[in-house]
Amino acid sequence: MNFDHILCHYSEIGLKGKNRKYFEERLKANILETVKLRCPDLVTSVRRYYGRLVVKVTDPTADFDLLVEVLKDVLGLSYFAPAFESSQQMNQLKTDALRLLSEIDFNMFRITARRGSNDIPLRAQNVNEEVGTHIVETLGKKVNLTSPDVNCYIDMFQDRAFVYPERILGRGGLPVGVSGKVAVMLSGGIDSPVAAYLAMKRGAKAIFVHFHSLPYTSPASIEKVREMLATLNHFQMRSKLYLVELAPIQKKIMEETSARFRVLLYRRFMLRITDAIAQKERAEAVVTGESLGQVASQTLENMAAVGRVTNMSILRPLVGFDKQEIIDRAKGIGTYDISIQQDQDCCSLFVPKRPATKARTEQLEKEEQTLTVDELVAAALEASDTEYHHL
Ligand code: ATP
Ligand code: MG
Repeated sequence: MNFDHILCHYSEIGLKGKNRKYFEERLKANILETVKLRCPDLVTSVRRYYGRLVVKVTDPTADFDLLVEVLKDVLGLSYFAPAFESSQQMNQLKTDALRLLSEIDFNMFRITARRGSNDIPLRAQNVNEEVGTHIVETLGKKVNLTSPDVNCYIDMFQDRAFVYPERILGRGGLPVGVSGKVAVMLSGGIDSPVAAYLAMKRGAKAIFVHFHSLPYTSPASIEKVREMLATLNHFQMRSKLYLVELAPIQKKIMEETSARFRVLLYRRFMLRITDAIAQKERAEAVVTGESLGQVASQTLENMAAVGRVTNMSILRPLVGFDKQEIIDRAKGIGTYDISIQQDQDCCSLFVPKRPATKARTEQLEKEEQTLTVDELVAAALEASDTEYHHL
């Protein structure tokens, strides 16, 4: 079917006044940018109307499937619909509904007309009845309001009207960028990319911080993180990545502190460094892939004792998820297969057999007394690399 537009809808709950305009403008810019990067030349324009955005397709014979795939990744869209433009004339609506339904194999149908405001001359119920009757008379099909084989939607708003057969579900959420910026601690594991996705889905723009232990671990974790960003960029198009060496700090911790606190001490350093990067980047929160009780370092006590090194809010979007739920979500966003590739996480290096599960902040502070904390953090920042990744 040669559609010429795509109607894009977002969830409007809670969007009022200035907020709505800001949200819509962001969504529009994100659609334009994604399309430009992933399927250039398919879209002529995106126009904003009250409550929806209308994407005009350059050429109705274009690769619609690709465009649909691309729009599925635009966060903030609740659903969208490839559509024909019609007009707010009863006869034209009849012709276009007939054109649409003639191309579909079905027995029972319904017409679902909707008008965006009361000043539109046609009433939805009249449109349903008249267009429905026309279809019954010309195609000999039956109306079934409750379980039709096909639903012919007719959307009228402002001076425009569109006809379409299907709504495609989007991922929902808010457009990336409307909620500010966060610094995501991205390991090579399954969890943190899902946490990043969930933060983006609530409108946060993410920057990423990855810690590696080169030369003691292989460069595989860095490659994995780069691959993950290529996938996560489907949702935010471009990402900045900080690569930070943890090995010098780990060495010091090995030499000077007792084994059972090591992982937590690594964590405190990672968080201090992430805090400094977040401040520099004007990010307003740190995001991690921690989930309560999943591993020894993720008890309430340990999370608190680690979190004490920063004043920033730490968001843990996975806190209530079971591992299986996280895995299912990782598959849904396309990062799972990358995560399960073998690598050596920096924290798997120099790890004790029996890590502390209930560390108190004072114990960790005591362990750190022999370390030159500020200097180690500054040196790690100084030696860090940044990369930009885009679609
Ligand atoms: P993940 O699957 O995200 O690695 P995990 O279940 O393996 O999580 P941990 O290894 O305990 O859990 O890590 C908890 C969180 O700490 C991670 O989700 C991530 O946010 C952060 N983190 C751990 N290792 C690193 C790393 N090398 N670089 C950046 N962040 C890390
Ligand atoms: Mg991990």
